[in-house]
Amino acid sequence: MSSRDGYGGESWGGDRLISLSALLKRELTSEKIEKPDILHGVASLSKKGEDFTLLKSECQRIPGNGSTTFSVFALFDGHNGCTAAIYAKENLLSNILCAIPSDLTRDEWLAALPRALVAGFIKTDKDFQNKAQVSGTTVTFVIIDGWVVTVASVGDSRCVLESAEGSFYHLSADHRLEDNKEEVERITASGGEVGRVNLVGGVEIGPLRCWPGGLCLSRSIGDKDVGEFIIPIPHVKQVKLSNAGGRLIISSDGVWDALSFESTLNYSRGLPADVAANKIVKKAVQVKGLRDDTTCIVVDILPPEKLSPFVMLPKKQGKRKKKNKYSKKLYELPSLRPIRNFFEPFMVEELFEDGSAELAQRLNTVHPVCNMFKQLVCAVCQVEMKPGEGVSVLRGTSDSGKVRPWDGPLLCLSCQVKKEAMEGKRPSIERRI
Ligand SMILES: [Zn+2]
Repeated sequence: MSSRDGYGGESWGGDRLISLSALLKRELTSEKIEKPDILHGVASLSKKGEDFTLLKSECQRIPGNGSTTFSVFALFDGHNGCTAAIYAKENLLSNILCAIPSDLTRDEWLAALPRALVAGFIKTDKDFQNKAQVSGTTVTFVIIDGWVVTVASVGDSRCVLESAEGSFYHLSADHRLEDNKEEVERITASGGEVGRVNLVGGVEIGPLRCWPGGLCLSRSIGDKDVGEFIIPIPHVKQVKLSNAGGRLIISSDGVWDALSFESTLNYSRGLPADVAANKIVKKAVQVKGLRDDTTCIVVDILPPEKLSPFVMLPKKQGKRKKKNKYSKKLYELPSLRPIRNFFEPFMVEELFEDGSAELAQRLNTVHPVCNMFKQLVCAVCQVEMKPGEGVSVLRGTSDSGKVRPWDGPLLCLSCQVKKEAMEGKRPSIERRI
């Protein structure tokens, strides 16, 4: 885990009562930054009708305040039906935003996002499972605010970034069991069984799957019939681009099974986002045929009024950007090491990364996000609790059986049951036999 850093700001304590005028004044101060232009294109060829996208370029952190806009681009690749993908498309964004207090500055809002994403993913999964419907979905959820890109992902859809300087970065995780030994160990320890399909004579074929159910993924939203150890806790990564911008490619496995990251970017370089998305999907289908739903979202983050297709800048000479004492440079982190360095790898800063399956770690409240949660409200589902109710995420229930206000963040009893089930401490709600 890397720590949250790169955020200044005040430390907060106790109740957060701030007048609207003071909040707007702080907003105006923090918003005196150059905002990029965001252009996007999407293309999709359907085989099963289980890929869905969410494209919202004009969300507002403070409703009615046009200077607080942010964009959301998300891809949901459903399996075993499309109900989970549709449910996540319709509910996930609001569940994430509900987990962020309303009185935060922009920097605080960005700092609170990773935890809100965790809460929103779990709440969406829990609510969907309570509807007693089968099916599941991958989610690749991208929030762009200014030059800061935050990506939360479960499953095997992927998001890659090519910075204007010409370096590539993975912003999502791959939760395929075949490629993720750590996740296989987690599921096995939680009571799941992982193995390949066995033919007569003991011959094993195909990728690693989780049984019962035969799912190839370790994380998703939905999949009630597989087991609670298939968790919805997302990998979250947050980076800050330089004001030269970059291009994001968000695609379902239909693309990545056919094309390498590098060739995908090469095919689309210099093309407008919508043309690029179409070309990527067309190429993927040419290579592998239409064997799966194949969807691609291309998002260009451009310097203002540079409304031309994304192109790499020539190598920058001279001084490198001064290193922020709180910042980790991408090249220092194995998972963020550029796939290829043509030019400067130093212009994209990591602000946050955590892919842990431990809910206590993901909801922890270390500086500077301490107190950026609502007291006496469940940290996952946001239900209000009475004083003394709930269970501390970090400490469990105290000796007296009651939690104290300073034990937070707290979970309601229902979310505590969900937490224990995800950790293999309770039987799953339902298993397919
Ligand atoms: Zn709850």
